[in-house]
Amino acid sequence: MTEQIKPDLNFINSVINAGGESLKKCYQCSTCTVVCNVTPDDKPFPRKEMVQAQWGMKDKLFGNPDIWLCHQCSDCTAYCPRGAKPGEVLGAIRKLSIEEFSVPGFLARMVNQPKFLLVLLAAPVLLYTLIIASQGFFTDGVPTENGKIVFGKFLFSLYYVDTVFTAAALFAVFSLYLGVTKYWRAMAAANGGVSSGDFGKALSDTFMDILGHNRFKKCEVTKDRATAHMLVFYSFIGLFITTILAFARVIPEYIHHLHLSEGIDVHMLDWLAYIYKPIGNVSAAALVLGIFLMMSNRFKNQGKAGLGSYYDWLFISLVAGVGISGLLAQFLRMANTVAAYPTYVAHLCLVFFLFAYAPFSKMAHMAYRTTALVYSRQTGRDTGN
Ligand code: SF4
Ligand code: SF4
Repeated sequence: MTEQIKPDLNFINSVINAGGESLKKCYQCSTCTVVCNVTPDDKPFPRKEMVQAQWGMKDKLFGNPDIWLCHQCSDCTAYCPRGAKPGEVLGAIRKLSIEEFSVPGFLARMVNQPKFLLVLLAAPVLLYTLIIASQGFFTDGVPTENGKIVFGKFLFSLYYVDTVFTAAALFAVFSLYLGVTKYWRAMAAANGGVSSGDFGKALSDTFMDILGHNRFKKCEVTKDRATAHMLVFYSFIGLFITTILAFARVIPEYIHHLHLSEGIDVHMLDWLAYIYKPIGNVSAAALVLGIFLMMSNRFKNQGKAGLGSYYDWLFISLVAGVGISGLLAQFLRMANTVAAYPTYVAHLCLVFFLFAYAPFSKMAHMAYRTTALVYSRQTGRDTGN
């Protein structure tokens, strides 16, 4: 019996509105599939996804690991004879799949619509304004220690910063976990169940693949993306290490503050600053350089690969904002100017936005793509070659 397909018009319109407006131009010539360097030979993409999107086959697309095997290199977009931009269409489908699997879903829909930008930004701004006000910052004048600006002592107590970011990070990790678990189940349902393949090997091979950026290196039209992405990726790792070491440095202070050990030397781990500060500064500089390379690549290749959607640019702008405001806050503090305080607050608000809303923005691609790559390796769909 032949399967009857009823086009899901709402879904087709969602793909179009999410950045896949060229979808209907596709006449299924398969050029895109031929030029794609990362697709497996068996049931290759992206032509089949273009057909599925034209027919509004939402469940097939959302349970499809291939939408995340695509690394948006845009080779297919550059060679498509109809200007259907398959790379951009797959990007739009990925964005919708994050909305589909995210918990809570309404936050994902808000994060990806420009009209909610100010509302979302208002949350950290309000939170930090209240914290600063509670510290007497607005009433007691601009505080300094021996004429020097010290963020951790006057603007916020470290406890407030750590509490806010720990809560935001736990929320983001839990929400991402729920999202990728739903995606894994959707892939299993759409592809005949869970594979009995070696999960551990699939996971370790995937990590090696990601660390080496092997797939990015296969891009032809946007070759420079590998370098830019690698700079941003490794700078995030550097900043993560910086955060862990900075937190470790204040553990004795917490122990003292919570009266767990009154005699503890609260400065015993201060030497960690000599390690994490250079790592943090180098990582922040690499982050800014990487993100500017990404921006310049997008403008340089916009004719062949498209400029990207709000979803892409929100992420790029946030990462740029975090890197620039972090470096600027540090320079202004070293110059001992009062402007260091608002710059530091702006930096913290951007960091909050980037991480608390990470499960719903393009940042979530790290988790969803890794999940799809592991699933594809475990099922034998993808060998990484
Ligand atoms: S997206 Fe373009 S290259 Fe791919 S099948 Fe459609 S028309 Fe052909
Ligand atoms: S954007 Fe690149 S990876 Fe994605 S389908 Fe097109 S050619 Fe393949």
